Amino acid sequence: MSHSFKEEEKLAIDAEIERLLLRWSEYEGEIKEFAKMNSSLLRPICRLLSVARIEVALNAPSSSLAPDGIDNMEILNDSGKIPGNKPLIYNKTTYEGGSCVIRFYPYAGTEFDNYTVSKLEFMATMVFMFGGRVRTRGLLKKALSSDQLTGLPNLNSFLAFMGMLIQRGRANFYNAYYLNVRNFKYINKLSDQRTGDECMAEYARKLSAIVDRDEIVSRLGGDNFVALIKRDENDAFLDAIKAIPVDVMTKSGPRTVVLGATVGVYEIPSDIRNPEDIMMPITVAHTIARQVLHKECVYYSESLASQFLISQRVLVNFKDAIKKHEFETYLQPKIDLSTGEVCGAEALARWNHHGEIIGPNDFIPPLERDGSICELDFEILRQSCEIIEGWKSKGIDPITISVNLSRWHLEEPDTAEKILKTVKKYDFDPKYLEFEITESVDSREYEALTSLLAKLRESGFITSIDDFGTGYSSITMLKDFELDVLKLDRSFIAKIGDKTEGLKDRVLVSNVVNLAKQLDMQVLAEGVETEAQMKYLKKIGCDMIQGFLYSKPIPVNEFTKQYMKKD
Ligand code: C2E
Ligand code: MG
Ligand code: MG
Repeated sequence: MSHSFKEEEKLAIDAEIERLLLRWSEYEGEIKEFAKMNSSLLRPICRLLSVARIEVALNAPSSSLAPDGIDNMEILNDSGKIPGNKPLIYNKTTYEGGSCVIRFYPYAGTEFDNYTVSKLEFMATMVFMFGGRVRTRGLLKKALSSDQLTGLPNLNSFLAFMGMLIQRGRANFYNAYYLNVRNFKYINKLSDQRTGDECMAEYARKLSAIVDRDEIVSRLGGDNFVALIKRDENDAFLDAIKAIPVDVMTKSGPRTVVLGATVGVYEIPSDIRNPEDIMMPITVAHTIARQVLHKECVYYSESLASQFLISQRVLVNFKDAIKKHEFETYLQPKIDLSTGEVCGAEALARWNHHGEIIGPNDFIPPLERDGSICELDFEILRQSCEIIEGWKSKGIDPITISVNLSRWHLEEPDTAEKILKTVKKYDFDPKYLEFEITESVDSREYEALTSLLAKLRESGFITSIDDFGTGYSSITMLKDFELDVLKLDRSFIAKIGDKTEGLKDRVLVSNVVNLAKQLDMQVLAEGVETEAQMKYLKKIGCDMIQGFLYSKPIPVNEFTKQYMKKD
C-alpha cells in the first residue's frame, strides 16, 4: 500500500528537510553526538515519509588516524514501528576507500513510492556528505591533539588538561613531569628506524598504562614526554618509570631492553594561573638533572632555577664577554710570614658585566662544565703578564703573580707550549709567574699533570698545588710532582685558632708544614682570617699566608697603590 502526497504535505516535507540541512551545516560537535541529535531531528521527516528506521553502516580500512580501521553501525532514527524487510539501500565509497551503506526501512507491509524514493535518495546523499564532514573533522581534531607515532595525547592536549585542572581548582593536587628516556639512542643503534619507532610506541603504551584516568602523559616528540600525575602517586610513578622493559628485534635476534628516564618534577602551586606556566619549571628541572647534577630526578626550586639561569647567562654571554674584555683580574696579596711583607699575589677573575661585578662562584662552575674555562685562564694569564710589564715600565719591582689553571688544560697536550707562546710576547723573568693547579685524582690526568708541571718548572715558572688536602691523592702527589709551593686549603685553617675545637686540624697542619719543608717545598696557608690563625701558622714555620686578615682580592690599580712601591 502506498500513500499519495498532497501538496501541503510535500511542502511540509521540504520544510523539514531544509531545517535538517541547516542544522547539519551548522553542526561542529562530535560524531557520537551527531548520531544522537539526528534521532530527534529526523523523527518528523520519517513520520511524513513513513520511514520506520534508518541504518548507516560504515566500514573503513586501517589508516594512520584510525589504525584499527572502522566497523560501525548506527541507527539514525527508530520510529518504534515494525520495519519492513525490503529496505531501500544506498552504497557510497568513503574517501579512505571504505564503504558506507545507508538503509531506509519502510513500515512493515509497505513500500516507498517514487516521490519518497527521490526524497530518500537526496537524504542518503546528505547523510553521507554531512556525516563524512563531521567524521573528518573528528579525525582531524584527533590528529591535532595526539602524537602520530604513539597515539598519546600531544602538547596541546596536555596543556588543555592542565587548563581543566586549573579551572576545577585541582592543579595543586598534581605534580608536573618532564621525562627523557635514557639510552633510547642505544635502541636505534641496535636496530633500524622502524624497529625504533615500534619500541617507542611500546614504551609509550606501557607508560600510559601506569597513568590513571584522571592523569595524563603526552609525547612531545623524540624521546621526550610530559606528564601530570596526582601528587599522592608521585613515588609510585617515579618508581614505575625507573625501568620499563621493551622488546627490540635487533640485527642479531630479539632482545629485551630496560629503559629508564631522567626526570624533572614540579610540584604545582595553588596560585598557578596559566597552563603554560608549568613548562619552564619542568624543563629547567629536567635540564639540571641531565646536564648539571647528572641525577635521575630533580625537583624544581626557585634557588635551583636562579642558579641555573645565571649559569645559562654565563654560557650565552661568555664569548662576547671575553671579546669585550669584561673579565678583570683582581689581586689578593700573599704575605711572607718571616718579614710581614707582601711577597706575591693571586690573580682572581671577576666579571664586570654592565657594571655588575660577578664573582667566580657564579661563572667558574658553568665554564668548567663546558670546558670554556681554558679561554678564561688564558685571558687572566695575559692580563697578569700585562700587570707585571706595567709595573716594570713604571719602575716598580714586580712580585710574583699566580694564575689558576683549570684541570681542563690537562686534556690538551700542548698546554705548556701555549702558555710559553703567550708569555714570550712579554719581557720579564719567568719567576714572576706562578701556576696554581688543583689536585688530581684520575690516573690519566696524573700523567698529564706530571708532564705539565715539569715543563712549566723547566721554563723557570713557579708551580703550586692549590686547595691542598681537598682531593684524594695528596701524599703521592708530593712525591711525584715538580712543585714549589703547597697551598693548604682554607678548610684546614678555619679552626686552628680555636684552642679546643682546632686540635686535630693543628696536628694535621703542623705535620703537613713539616712534610713540605723536608721535601723542599714552601707552604702557603689560604683563607687566613684571624690573628690567632696567623700567629699559629708563624709558630709552626708556615712560609706564607693569604686571606681576608690582610686583604680580600682587589682591583689592580688599588693593589698597586697600596702594596707596590717604586725602587
Ligand atoms: P682559589 O684559587 O682557591 O682562590 C682563593 C679563593 O679564596 C678566592 O675566592 C678568594 O677570594 C678566597 N679567599 C681568600 N682569602 C679568603 C679568606 O680569608 N676567607 C675566605 N672565606 N675566602 C678567602 P674567589 O676569588 O671567589 O675564587 C674562588 C675560586 O674560583 C678560586 O679558588 C679558583 O679556584 C677559582 N678561580 C678564580 N679565578 C679563576 C681563574 O681565573 N681561573 C680558574 N681556573 N679558576 C679561577
Ligand atoms: Mg688559587
Ligand atoms: Mg685555593
